[in-house]
Amino acid sequence: MIAVLFVLMKVGIHINRNLVYTLPNNKILFIRPEALAKMHQYKQVKWRDTEAGGILIGRILIEDGNYIIDEVSEPMLTDKRTRIRFIRKPDGHQEYFNKIWKREKGTCFYFGEWHTHPQRIPVPSRTDRKEWNRLINISFEADFLFFIIIGIDDFKVYCGSTSGRKILELNRRYELG
Ligand SMILES: [Zn+2]
Repeated sequence: MIAVLFVLMKVGIHINRNLVYTLPNNKILFIRPEALAKMHQYKQVKWRDTEAGGILIGRILIEDGNYIIDEVSEPMLTDKRTRIRFIRKPDGHQEYFNKIWKREKGTCFYFGEWHTHPQRIPVPSRTDRKEWNRLINISFEADFLFFIIIGIDDFKVYCGSTSGRKILELNRRYELG
């Protein structure tokens, strides 16, 4: 549904070192702090807070093949949200993607999904893994899709290889920054 485009990033990126991850192919994934801040707004700190989520939008940098998550969509009214479940509907998220895609002149693409958990340290549920496996088995052109779970004290980043069909938790790298 969305074409993968390799684009030249002309601007220098200053990335917080906590947001740098190594991928199985030794490339690097950056998460823009603004994108993370947006997701962190939905942390389920209060007992009544429901799960939230959205899509990840990013780019592959042409000069080194590294990945960056630039933008994330936020929960839409049509999404199903309970304390322990988030079901994303296409409505709104697709329009959000289209808006960014237009603004970036087609240089960004769908990178995966994020959602929150009412856990201090989030652990993917069986439903999460099932859904992620379904997504990486749909033929995307990118080598990877990413899945982020925002817990109360920490967040986790997973990477699904669309060729190897495997989902791995990514480790944060601290030596860069
Ligand atoms: Zn979940």
